Amino acid sequence: MQFRDLSAQYAALKEKMDAALLGVAQSSRYILGPQVEELERRLAEYVGVKYCVSCANGTDALIMPLMAWGIGKGDAVFAPDFTYFASINCAMGLGASPVLVDIDSRTFNMSPKSLEAAIVNTLDEGRLTPRAIIPVDLFGLPADYDEILRIAKKYGLLVLEDAAQGFGGMLRGRRAGSFGDAAGTSFFPAKPLGCYGDGGAVFTNDAALAESIRSLRAQGRSPEDKYDNRTTGINSRLDTIQAAVLLVKLDAFEEYELDAVNAAAKKYDALLSDTVVTPLIPDGYLSSFAQYTIMLNDRAERDGLAAHLKQKGIPSMVYYPRGMHEQTAAKVFGCDGGSFQNSERAVATCLSLPMHPYLTDETIETVAGEIKSFLKK
Ligand SMILES: *Cc1c(COP(=O)(O)O)cnc(C)c1O
Repeated sequence: MQFRDLSAQYAALKEKMDAALLGVAQSSRYILGPQVEELERRLAEYVGVKYCVSCANGTDALIMPLMAWGIGKGDAVFAPDFTYFASINCAMGLGASPVLVDIDSRTFNMSPKSLEAAIVNTLDEGRLTPRAIIPVDLFGLPADYDEILRIAKKYGLLVLEDAAQGFGGMLRGRRAGSFGDAAGTSFFPAKPLGCYGDGGAVFTNDAALAESIRSLRAQGRSPEDKYDNRTTGINSRLDTIQAAVLLVKLDAFEEYELDAVNAAAKKYDALLSDTVVTPLIPDGYLSSFAQYTIMLNDRAERDGLAAHLKQKGIPSMVYYPRGMHEQTAAKVFGCDGGSFQNSERAVATCLSLPMHPYLTDETIETVAGEIKSFLKK
């Protein structure tokens, strides 16, 4: 059994995928070929924003908006404690200080209440200048943007949506990637929309920001003259071959994959909701189920279940085994203190189960059956 079955996906898309891959090889336009522009157009349309700028990975998609906004030393960037390290590394790499925020106990996303408390505390301390919020659409579920955007406005902060896991998710008709001043997503193979290597994209409605990011991804070159560099940037392009892969996969994602993961989640819910804490998708939200994550009673039960599943040939993953404040790197930026009750609970009790669009009912029944039989003991 696979945790995320990318071979099944390739088998389903083989004919179109082989043609797309071969097409790139034959065209020899390996960098910024026509597929890249076509993909950017289609992604912007799907997400519902004016501009999409593709890049080399999801981390760069978070770094570049922060660079464009001039965020750096002395600036505070608010991010959830329970996430993948890239959500704060993007700010740390520019010298900015992450200020960590606890999560909601049921959605795993940034708690707006803790966010506001962290902003007020940072203002009171006066050591750092609050600049931006990086909410994360964890496990495919958009963060609580009603509240987060209200708080951002109140304190005059920029919002950079980390939609690396959120692509396809929705909040009352709006897609993940369309919230805030800019969003970054990742096309790492295991993400909801993945390519055959690394890839990412920035989404925004801000024309000037989109232009800055196009410049930043090409060493900071000026739009008018490619040998005049107006600022220092990075080299972060999406390869044509990845764009070609993504065009094929985006069709499947729109046609049936997003529905398929939601159907799989419903099936898991039906079999497991009386045994474990199943994912909460609040009214008005749609998750793209980057992960299907359950919560157990305590660490011992979680670790015991993971070992039991492993023994039965069922892969599971602990996302995430430590919070950001427990990272060694957090010490450098002084964000290693504090108590993050909900994040710490999630770290101790969460387990992510096999989840992908090609999961069969039979497999879901097997996984759920093993979970039930272990917990009955
Ligand atoms: C995967 C991920 C990233 C980084 O994406 P890469 O393409 O691996 O650079 C950032 N944030 C979150 C929450 C992620 O899961």
